[in-house]
Amino acid sequence: MKYRDVARGCLNRANAMLPSNSEEVLRYAALELRQCLECLIYERACCYKSVLSNDDLKEWQPSRLIKRLLEIAPYADKGFRLTMASKEDENDIIMDETERVLSRKELSKHYHKIGSYLHASFNSDLEPIALNTTSVNKSLERLSTLLDEVINSPIAKLAPKAGLFAFDCKKCGERVGCEPNYTVSEFNLHCSNSKCSASYEVTFDAVNHQLSYEPDIVSATCAKKDCLNSVSIWQRDIKHGNTFTCGKCGLLNVIGYSISLA
Ligand SMILES: [Zn+2]
Ligand SMILES: [Zn+2]
Repeated sequence: MKYRDVARGCLNRANAMLPSNSEEVLRYAALELRQCLECLIYERACCYKSVLSNDDLKEWQPSRLIKRLLEIAPYADKGFRLTMASKEDENDIIMDETERVLSRKELSKHYHKIGSYLHASFNSDLEPIALNTTSVNKSLERLSTLLDEVINSPIAKLAPKAGLFAFDCKKCGERVGCEPNYTVSEFNLHCSNSKCSASYEVTFDAVNHQLSYEPDIVSATCAKKDCLNSVSIWQRDIKHGNTFTCGKCGLLNVIGYSISLA
């Protein structure tokens, strides 16, 4: 079973119900379109599966999932353009298509709106309010047109799987990754495990076209005067009040900010 096929089925069933003067029928159509939106976001997430953590994979809410995808890949909600020219003549364009992808803006605009059609509503006197079928029909038909464009995009799932940069977190072992930003020589990457504080400095060597990463850690020493054991602390753990136990003497060290006057 493929997400796109499920999405197409949802869209077809919704279209068969639209337009309608019946509130009940419109609610069913909204339900189908909501599932269709979800399928398209989950399908998009599959393109980045190799760099999604277990935490990410538990996220079912489309708005949160697309936010996460955009952290990994800034262009995750944009379509790629694919152009092919003949080998003999580069001006002889054989193919020029752009992928139609559901954007985060489109998702947030429609998802909550159709969600509101699925709930009973009431006015300030706690009396039930009927759906405004004219406006609901209009909004569902607009969404149906948009979903039809995405589902029938001439090309699909062109996310650059090969271009994803991924490695195992040195602290928790979770998969960390992103679609690298090649326009900068250095950028910071956080572990995607919400319980892990590891972060990494990623460096792009433009000459050799290579990416490398270094754990973002700082050196500190145990506060006990006759110990002074050297310890490494993840940069994101350096917060006022955080603690660490010295591996040599067992002292519980507390991190604190102080001001020293020169
Ligand atoms: Zn981690
Ligand atoms: Zn110590």
